[in-house]
Amino acid sequence: MANSVKALKIDIEEVTSRTVRINHKEYFDVNAGAIILDNFIIVIDTLQYPKQTQEFREVLEEKYGLPVKYLFITHYHGDHHFGAVKFKDVEIFGSNELRRNMEKRLETSWNQKAFDDWKESVPDLAEIIEEIEIILPHKGFDEKYVLFDNDLKVEFYGSGGHSSCSSIAYFPDQKVLFAGDEIASGFWIFMSDTTGNPEKWIESFERLLKLDIDIIVPGHDPITGKEYIEEQLIFMKKLKERVLDALSQGKGIEDVDVPNYYEPATEWQIPEALKFLFKFYSEN
Ligand SMILES: [Zn+2]
Repeated sequence: MANSVKALKIDIEEVTSRTVRINHKEYFDVNAGAIILDNFIIVIDTLQYPKQTQEFREVLEEKYGLPVKYLFITHYHGDHHFGAVKFKDVEIFGSNELRRNMEKRLETSWNQKAFDDWKESVPDLAEIIEEIEIILPHKGFDEKYVLFDNDLKVEFYGSGGHSSCSSIAYFPDQKVLFAGDEIASGFWIFMSDTTGNPEKWIESFERLLKLDIDIIVPGHDPITGKEYIEEQLIFMKKLKERVLDALSQGKGIEDVDVPNYYEPATEWQIPEALKFLFKFYSEN
């Protein structure tokens, strides 16, 4: 977690002539993105702090001379939409499940006390955290949604792996995929959200392989290519097999022979993923 205003520094990088990646290195290398159409901009996620959201919105609107018309939120984790207050005036959307997950969080963990505790733990950022407002999406979709501008279109697909509301944005004109946290390139997968679903994740990746993709902007970590989908898919299937083997032999989490993959970004990732997979596959 960032602990000073300086640590909120963001980088804005042109990925292709019509796509942009906005990155906050200090917080798990989290990414937001933007697609520049002919008449407006679609923003994908906000990063964690409204101050950062404001900053990149101003840069985008000035650089391209276009207004942001839509904010697409890939899923409900705070590092992807806590800045949404700065897009209160645009249409905000995501999967239908996104709104449900956000409402559930508002009833449980996103309360005044939680935000007060957060402010107390990083006093230097208290004023910035104070700005955060949970903005519920105005609109949702289940499997697919498409936005058009002149001859250009952007496709949005429900995915539901990393979390039940996870969805992705695909811009066919430049073959760019914004994958949200379905991908954290070069690191272990974030696979432990209680709403997540490894089977949907695998299905979604099999569908993505059919799309014409050159570049992937993941929810975290550097830009990657389509081969990463294949690589992660092979790993997820292998890991699933090992978990099913362990379950069928009455073995425990500690006995799973975890296939080789990238390093975890934090040490809880692998044990939490195994706990999650054991629970999922013993119930399904
Ligand atoms: Zn996430």
